[in-house]
Amino acid sequence: MEHTRGVIRGRYAENRHQIAASLLAADGRVFSGIHLEAMVGRASVCAEAVALGKAREAGATDLRYVLSVRHPKPSEAAREIKLVPPCGLCRELLLDYGQDLQVVLGGEDELRSESLSQMLPHKYVGTKWAAVDQSR
Ligand SMILES: [Zn+2]
Repeated sequence: MEHTRGVIRGRYAENRHQIAASLLAADGRVFSGIHLEAMVGRASVCAEAVALGKAREAGATDLRYVLSVRHPKPSEAAREIKLVPPCGLCRELLLDYGQDLQVVLGGEDELRSESLSQMLPHKYVGTKWAAVDQSR
């Protein structure tokens, strides 16, 4: 968690970068990303998607854990960078590339992991990839 906290601590910019996410691959590599807020909200990209793109670019396909943290805005009283679960869109996206991913959740003293598939029990299943190995 400290690695990911350090990522957003170093790159936080109000209304631009508030979330950082890291993916841990089975081979021990860690891929991190920060969220990209856009002027047009729908054009924004989540940190998890950025981290996933970096992992895929590096050829990491066996992803084990995802961890996301949120930096507080200056207007917030709380100053801690806290764990947050991936949003619904990221749950869909991450499950497309890591069916066995575990999500790191909890507070500072109570870290735990939960299966991403349990967090999105009725994932959309289309036919786009029916003829290909979805683990690629
Ligand atoms: Zn998201």
